[in-house]
Amino acid sequence: MSSNTDFLLAVEDLTVSFDGFKAIDGLNFYMDEKELRVVIGPNGAGKTTLLDLICGKTKATNGSIKFRGKELTRLPEHRIVWEGVGRKFQTPSVYDSLTVRDNLEVSYPKGRGVWGALAFKRDTALQEKTQEIAESVMLKDSLDLEAGQLSHGQKQWLEIGMLLMQDPALLMLDEPIAGMSAREREQTADLLKRLAGKHSIIVIEHDMNFVKQIGRKVTVLHQGAILAEGDMDQVQSDQRVIDVYLGH
Ligand code: ADP
Ligand code: MG
Repeated sequence: MSSNTDFLLAVEDLTVSFDGFKAIDGLNFYMDEKELRVVIGPNGAGKTTLLDLICGKTKATNGSIKFRGKELTRLPEHRIVWEGVGRKFQTPSVYDSLTVRDNLEVSYPKGRGVWGALAFKRDTALQEKTQEIAESVMLKDSLDLEAGQLSHGQKQWLEIGMLLMQDPALLMLDEPIAGMSAREREQTADLLKRLAGKHSIIVIEHDMNFVKQIGRKVTVLHQGAILAEGDMDQVQSDQRVIDVYLGH
């Protein structure tokens, strides 16, 4: 099997078994730099588990995950973050009693041995970064609000912003629009399309309108393996996909 290092992410023969049950079963999955990929599939297909494996929360039983040519399966979670992988979980985990600004600032990677003039430089860089990210996640007018006052959708955006503070090469989002209004869903689709110019993004989502709005390559997962891959039209007209997922 090839391990082409031109891919941002090359997942090969990946398997994880929980008490003999293979939640991911010999999976091959490839992504390019700056790609925005949607992953869909029925409940229990292994979508969340795939993200758990990539970010190191769950350890693989077998197979390989290469990120810019580097093997991730043996690295601890914090090292995987350090390599440039950011992952958002299903429920937002922002600090409700901190302001939006503080939530963003605490997410900025710590420099080492920074003091004096350097500390001042870091402060300026931090402020600029905070401003830039707040703007990109549509929260620049809410920087001084407590995060607890944000709408559910805005909290999701804040959490995306917190990940962006670390400037990840790969951003992974698990059902980010759950609980959002129709308007917020559209804004999130636009946000992800904008971000895809700078980062690679994997987004797991159920809402087919959202998947259409994104309009990029779709991977259909079923029983821990890839059932189909292609653009929305190809995937939607694939009889196997209709049988196990879209037909329900
Ligand atoms: P999806 O996100 O596609 O709905 P998951 O990745 O959450 O699916 O789960 C895939 C399958 O793996 C499910 O059957 C789930 O019960 C099982 N599973 C996930 N994590 C664990 C775990 N830590 N221990 C045992 N079984 C698990
Ligand atoms: Mg899931």
